[in-house]
Amino acid sequence: MTRVPLPVNDPNRSYLPGSPERNELKARLTAMAGERIDIPIVIGGREIRSGQIGHVVMPHDHQHVLADWHMASTEHVSQAIAAALDAQREWASRSLEDRAGVFLKAAELLTTTWRATLNAATMLGQSKTVIQAEIDAASELIDFWRFNPYFARDLYDEQPISTDAASNRTEYRPLEGFVYAVTPFNFTSIAGNLPTAPALMGNTVVWKPASSAVVSGYYVMRLLEAAGLPPGVINFVPGDATQISRVLLDSPDLAGVHFTGSTAVFDGLWKLAGENLSRYRSYPRLVGETGGKDFIVAHPSADVQALAVAIARGGCEYQGQKCSAASRIYVPRSLWPEVRDRVVAMMRDMRMGDVSDFRTFLGAVIDGKAFDRISGYLDDARRNATVVQGGGVNGETGYFVEPTLVETSDPGYRLLREEIFGPVVTAYVYPDARWLETLKTIDETSPYALTGAVFATEHAAVQEATNALRHAAGNFYVNDKPTGAVVGQQPFGGARRSGTNDKAGSKMNLLRWVSARTIKETFSPPREYRYPYMSEE
Ligand code: NAD
Repeated sequence: MTRVPLPVNDPNRSYLPGSPERNELKARLTAMAGERIDIPIVIGGREIRSGQIGHVVMPHDHQHVLADWHMASTEHVSQAIAAALDAQREWASRSLEDRAGVFLKAAELLTTTWRATLNAATMLGQSKTVIQAEIDAASELIDFWRFNPYFARDLYDEQPISTDAASNRTEYRPLEGFVYAVTPFNFTSIAGNLPTAPALMGNTVVWKPASSAVVSGYYVMRLLEAAGLPPGVINFVPGDATQISRVLLDSPDLAGVHFTGSTAVFDGLWKLAGENLSRYRSYPRLVGETGGKDFIVAHPSADVQALAVAIARGGCEYQGQKCSAASRIYVPRSLWPEVRDRVVAMMRDMRMGDVSDFRTFLGAVIDGKAFDRISGYLDDARRNATVVQGGGVNGETGYFVEPTLVETSDPGYRLLREEIFGPVVTAYVYPDARWLETLKTIDETSPYALTGAVFATEHAAVQEATNALRHAAGNFYVNDKPTGAVVGQQPFGGARRSGTNDKAGSKMNLLRWVSARTIKETFSPPREYRYPYMSEE
């Protein structure tokens, strides 16, 4: 058995003025903004151009086209399934060390020569600021590719007991068939992890990236090829989601779905899999990390400044487009005026605009559809609640939404229940004496259970919140914002309508991509069918 060294989390670079990483990134941003790339479908290692073209624009400058990408037809999807099935025998027969080598090498490339490229693609294509791109497209993806081999080794080490008479072992086989990876726009690291985690375990994959994140997705694909990923192990098929999913979920060889995105889409995939169940060769593994309505609850003993910073950062970073973004807050009346004023001051101070300007704190939201959806919620807030700060939108050059703080006195208000996916934080102010009732309200308000945070300096209050909110969040934070999970430190995922909680970047997730075979070898097989006790006295 070989050992994989305990990985260390990739340190974020500083990008301080004058630093080499800043100069390199600036140069890459300028170069990328000055080109318009052509993105093919990649099946079995071959680039295919369908001629049916989609465009990727910069969300903060929506007339600026970054790329033309070729959409996969149903025929291409069938070819991708065939390529994945073809590649599987050879790939699965490799040792774990050999497969892991590809992803460890990819991590090394991303740490060094590919870092600026993936960060620039994520900044321009998904409108992330420098720090948001760095923690996602660089550090988190590097961590996935370094920690997963370590967790896989750990899993392989779990073996049954052997005796003098027989040896027993567990073989961690990949699933029989192919895995379908469907990835969201908001994290390049998730886009990289969903196809590669099953591939590490010996599976082959058909990967459909989000249309609005095809640029960073394509660079991830190219990076994996540069790291030595064999043709057909991961097949890159951007295109019409419904059409593509139908072909893949109709295939008897579907072995698993690795999804991150909205709850409604995952429900649709699960239903389709259910309808097709009897035609599959195996029960497919359905892994989905979905929506959130993440909370921060403050106890009267909370540190007001730490709380205000958590609300401002947790609610507004990446324009509130993190599944873990703080979007409902519960603050005691005694603290509210102070908390409100500090959050408002921070929100007013946040610079919004082009992410290539490193002073920017917020870029634009991803596309016109998101812009309209968030605008609708803001209209609702103007009619039915109090907009304390922000509420403005401007879609002229880019899809910009101001950091917004809304206050409501109705604990069942829509903006406290539904996922908005924009920089909108809704506050419910509770009477200090109703702390325990408020915890119950938080638990029962929204169908999601992804992340949540409690702020308190009294430890008894932390305990009360931790117990009362046991099932309200899969990632629970004490005196910290509910975003920013780090691979290996806070395995990530939520329950209830937030997903299957298979904890990306952990052994729990990898377990879903193997189907164990137990092998017993007996050294001295019995040669007599009768048992000794059967003989006459
Ligand atoms: P989305 O559901 O719109 O899209 C996700 C993926 O599904 C994309 O590739 C999309 O093309 C595809 N898709 C869309 N319609 C489909 C269909 N009918 N059939 C099959 N595939 C389809 O989500 P998004 O806007 O890209 O991402 C935001 C959502 O993702 C939010 O709800 C957020 O909370 C969630 N998210 C969750 C986590 C988590 O870990 N829980 C992490 C990131 C994002």
